[in-house]
Amino acid sequence: MTTVNRRTMLAHAIEGVPQDADFKVAEMSLPEPAAGELQLRHIYLSLDPWQRSAIAGRHSPDGTPMQAGDMPPGEVVAQVAQSRHADFAEGDYVRHMGGWQEYSIADGNLAVKVDAPKAPLSAYLGVLGMPGLTAWASIIKLADIQPGQTVLVSAALGPVGATLGQIALKMGASAVVGIAGSAEKCRYVIEECGFSQCVNYKSPDYLESLQNALPDGADIYHDNVGGQMLIDAIGVMKQYGTVVLCGLISQYNDPALAVNLPVALPIMKRLVMKGLVVYDFYNQQQEFFDLVAPWVNDGSISFREDRAAGIENAGAHFAKLMCGDNVGKSLIVLGDE
Ligand code: NDP
Repeated sequence: MTTVNRRTMLAHAIEGVPQDADFKVAEMSLPEPAAGELQLRHIYLSLDPWQRSAIAGRHSPDGTPMQAGDMPPGEVVAQVAQSRHADFAEGDYVRHMGGWQEYSIADGNLAVKVDAPKAPLSAYLGVLGMPGLTAWASIIKLADIQPGQTVLVSAALGPVGATLGQIALKMGASAVVGIAGSAEKCRYVIEECGFSQCVNYKSPDYLESLQNALPDGADIYHDNVGGQMLIDAIGVMKQYGTVVLCGLISQYNDPALAVNLPVALPIMKRLVMKGLVVYDFYNQQQEFFDLVAPWVNDGSISFREDRAAGIENAGAHFAKLMCGDNVGKSLIVLGDE
């Protein structure tokens, strides 16, 4: 029987902040899997800020932007509908770079089994997926957090920020302060994630509030945003503190918005600055999982999702993410679990 697959693709090359009209949906029949391959039925599609860079060509070796008809990449949690690979059976759950579509044909060697899932399946794209691994790598491996330290994190309600703040608290941080873009986001990280304080950077008194939230300064800053927010955060660091440079979301839509960091600032504060690329930590995923999964499963680490249903809504939901209007991990629901 022929399976009909629907896919969201670019309607044209994208400039600036993505809009719903930049995307269109196409239908196609799905080929049968060949030997070694799997036919996957996608259940959840992860929308992530890095996809904006991929659309702009910044993730491809030759830097060519994606064009009309190209499908953005994306990780999915899927169920094996047909298996022609010895390690997988029909009905298994997997994670895979399946892209913005309802089905895919996967090389079985590249799919990762979600074995006996205990947490909700969608968590394997957020708190227990790549964003969670990023948070763990930052606060445990790069910042090497110690009990009693004070942590500052931007994009605090996203899956990276919220997970990082909660791991920091578990490791004995004396205070975790978030920076977020709305009162609702700030309320969530304080009430649901246990952050000590959260500062809304869109408030007119932002800088004063940031200083008041950290009267003695921060030992660790995890930066998801770059630009002026990074400069302002360095202003509230303690001497000899650590800054983990993780994301530049303030300039993904338009690299011309980049703001140069005056290097005198980290020099005067004697800061250690470390760059983070999550791929470097994929071979340590089990260590991350062993630490964080029990906290997710017992509910002592909370996570929030920003869901939309249907592949036809992937473009609009991505546009929402890329203008900062998502409230939690951005996901598209594509099918029943
Ligand atoms: P989020 O769900 O947090 O979504 C992005 C958030 O960024 C928005 O909700 C918004 O929150 C904030 N934001 C700040 N400035 C802007 C702006 N100018 N335009 C749009 N949004 C803005 O994303 P993730 O938790 O998935 O990722 C957080 C960061 O970590 C990203 O920069 C991402 O690229 C990076 N990352 C890096 C990795 C690495 O290997 N280096 C791996 C994984 C993620 P608010 O309203 O609170 O500001």
